[in-house]
Amino acid sequence: MTELRSSLLSWYANQGRSLPWRKTRDPYAIWVSEIMLQQTQVKTVIPYFERWMQQFPSIESFANADLQTVLKAWEGLGYYARARNFHRAAQQVLQEYEGQFPTNLETALKLPGIGRTTAGGILSAAFNQSLPILDGNVKRVLARIMALEVPPSRSMSQLWELSETLVDPEKGRDFNQALMDLGATVCTPKNPACLICPWRSHCKAYNRGIQSELPMSETRAPIPHKVIGVAVIWKDQKILIDRRKAEGLLGGLWEFPGGKVEPGETIEQCIQREIQEELGIEIEVGEHLITVDHTYTHFRVSLNVHHCQHVAGEPQAIECDEIRWVTLDQLPEFPFPKANIKIIEALKSSCSNG
Ligand code: SF4
Repeated sequence: MTELRSSLLSWYANQGRSLPWRKTRDPYAIWVSEIMLQQTQVKTVIPYFERWMQQFPSIESFANADLQTVLKAWEGLGYYARARNFHRAAQQVLQEYEGQFPTNLETALKLPGIGRTTAGGILSAAFNQSLPILDGNVKRVLARIMALEVPPSRSMSQLWELSETLVDPEKGRDFNQALMDLGATVCTPKNPACLICPWRSHCKAYNRGIQSELPMSETRAPIPHKVIGVAVIWKDQKILIDRRKAEGLLGGLWEFPGGKVEPGETIEQCIQREIQEELGIEIEVGEHLITVDHTYTHFRVSLNVHHCQHVAGEPQAIECDEIRWVTLDQLPEFPFPKANIKIIEALKSSCSNG
């Protein structure tokens, strides 16, 4: 263990990445980075992190911001439940812990959106606590070191145990950062650079020549595909948008209305029916604008978007929280999911081309 720790720490001293959240010990800033990094790559997170810290420099400023502003700042990062939980957790820290992030693991774990890896990541980076972490990169490194013969999800307790045994008792901060860097830059998913790896001589996968076969892949069922009809409804140069209900996937974000195509239905029929059911209005479905394909964790969608014209009726928020008529120029003021942003871009170029 001592040899593993010291070889990794000296590798990190020379090869560790310089990342903006490593220049601070502020638990709030580190918390921001940990939440953003949960399902997003470092290079995408960096500009978001920097903008976020300018917009919400303290836990107070973040907790007191309204959710729409928060979702707008998060726009494009995906997995919006992270932003909503983070916002609730910040309000809780402000109200219950005088704005100080808890230094105790059990207390931190009670906050919304904070699991064991995130808590370990924050407490080690901010307070140098020697707590284990197990993110995607770390799982891969450890699965290879121990030549784990089952997919990681089937051996989580063993992996946690190894992470806990390995973490340096005095240098939890640097050790965990080093372990993440090793996974991100050397022990990569494809073609790990074993020849420059500080752990090569202790790595069972390398010693057996099976590093590229590990970790064993999780067997997954194919994910379902939903075909959706989407309406860009025009009336007097304005477009109708709706705010999704606060809970669930993409909760609280704005969107162009629409819904799932039923068996035997054309896209046009689907749009007409959905708009009647969701908003209680009659529309005329016009020409096709764009089809956007997007993959979420558990399903894929194809959004078939059509220009539509309002014909009759006053729109009502039947299956959403709010509706608004807005101009094309106002659309960027509202937080939209990524797939809808492509629709906005297509709208802008179709309108500028007349
Ligand atoms: S020797 Fe290779 S497989 Fe083993 S930890 Fe290092 S990079 Fe990963």
